[in-house]
Amino acid sequence: MQVKPMGCPDGKYGLRCHKDCICKNGARCHGLNGACKCPPGWKGVVYKKVAGCDEMCDCLHGASCDRWAGCVCPPGWTGPRCQTQCPPGMYGKDCEKYCICENGASCSPIDGRCNCSSGWYGKNCSKPCPNGRFGQHCQRGCTCKNRATCDNVDGSCTCVTPWTGLNCDQLQQATSSDEPLLESLVSLGSLVFLAAIVMAILYKMGILACSAPDAGEEEKILFELKKMEQDLAQSLQPGWLGRWEKKIRHLTPGPLIGEGMFGQVRKARLRTPEGEITVAAKTFRVEDSQSYRNFYREAAILVSVHQQRNDDYPESNIVRLLGLITKSPAKYILLEYAPKGDLLGFLRRIRDINEEGLFGSLLGYAVDIARALQELGRLRIAHRDVAARNVLITADDVAKLADFGLARDVYVTTQYVRCTQPGLDDFLPLKWMALESIETGEYTCQSDVWSFGVLLWEIATLGQDPCYDGRTQLTFLQMVGVLRQGKRLTKPEGCPEDLYQLMKECWCDVPATRPTPEEAEERLLQLRRELLPRDAIEMETVV
Ligand code: AMP
Repeated sequence: MQVKPMGCPDGKYGLRCHKDCICKNGARCHGLNGACKCPPGWKGVVYKKVAGCDEMCDCLHGASCDRWAGCVCPPGWTGPRCQTQCPPGMYGKDCEKYCICENGASCSPIDGRCNCSSGWYGKNCSKPCPNGRFGQHCQRGCTCKNRATCDNVDGSCTCVTPWTGLNCDQLQQATSSDEPLLESLVSLGSLVFLAAIVMAILYKMGILACSAPDAGEEEKILFELKKMEQDLAQSLQPGWLGRWEKKIRHLTPGPLIGEGMFGQVRKARLRTPEGEITVAAKTFRVEDSQSYRNFYREAAILVSVHQQRNDDYPESNIVRLLGLITKSPAKYILLEYAPKGDLLGFLRRIRDINEEGLFGSLLGYAVDIARALQELGRLRIAHRDVAARNVLITADDVAKLADFGLARDVYVTTQYVRCTQPGLDDFLPLKWMALESIETGEYTCQSDVWSFGVLLWEIATLGQDPCYDGRTQLTFLQMVGVLRQGKRLTKPEGCPEDLYQLMKECWCDVPATRPTPEEAEERLLQLRRELLPRDAIEMETVV
């Protein structure tokens, strides 16, 4: 028998062309399975008995319509119908690129090309008009004479003595009498004096103490945050950035107290309307987009935590934010200064102390961090890097969770492992990470509980480096293999059975079966009561 390759007639499909094509709006129907190939402007698929190509894309700005994905926006536009133009400072496909235009130039949302403002030229508009030219596109010629300098923006002349006049072409008149000059100097002096008093009053009232970043900058950062963390972006109230802005000249940096891959932490003095205070100033180098995002993510989380603080939770176990500096080239997050430093260093320093009840009092820090996790849980924020190195001890001996930027710091070579899995961050704190975070990049409050279990282990070992299967250094694949075999950190020497049991529950494969931070707090408090000498607990209750 000879088979002739022949398609079904219009409107039919199937092996025997016995089925009716249900695609709408002029779509062609696949000869075998009936799938619709939509004409431009229509989308939709055949699902069970529901017709395909029956939804109009309604895309704007020349966007094409993909029958599965809907509108595919051209560069410069975003949104489900491509109705929104890229926010100021961003451009390109999906508005993913940053403009590099300077000196007030606008930037094309399509290709990022800079449209220089008056007086500037060059690719980034970074060059002032060459000598003798000024204005838009440096097209106008200066009229300044006698070696006067010409303003690149408006062409105004700054004369050299003895020349004067609009174009510096008139000789200055000698003063006929000293009296009028003296008079004008006196009145000028009193004006300056008056202005200084007004400025001082405004400063005292805090009106001049900080100038907020402009709304455009805030909008741009929000747009970035929305792409990373929708919940976080939504929890921020308008003006969130400006409310925390401090002036760089009010900060006096002091000694270095910590260093990370993205910047440094310095002890510093901050001038405030209430007087000078000591702060920890965390600087970031924000020249690349990753560190720029890290800076604003950490700033946004801290602002979000602080704006939600209310009378129910007056004492927070999250490091206190005191201000932000975003308007200078070096960006700063200003935090409360924790004189005892980080918990890991603290644990290692007290290794030789053999004091009754020491372990019980260390569990107090674990209780503090369990409370910090509860705060984050209420805000639906995952910290992603809960570890002793990211806990600070305050002057009042309270442990507070810090470092919300997933900053890869001095531990890069030992604690953070370079990861080549697509879609995951370059450096990951593998030995603190929950199995699902390693395998799928999923971070939740329950994955923070896994890391909290490792933090308990660090406390119980006085700051040892976590060791799996006899190894302190594991690759990504080795780590997954070890955990998948059910292997976990072993019980530290002298660790109470109940505490190790709590750690093991934090390391359950199934996130939902791990203890909640509330439950962990409860159990740690109970353990602490059993371990601390009775008089210490009584002392605490009195305090
Ligand atoms: P980070 O980049 O936030 O992990 O900070 C690096 C190191 O700087 C920490 O491990 C601490 O030793 C120190 N550090 C950070 N913040 C503070 C602070 N608020 N008070 C005192 N030391 C700090």
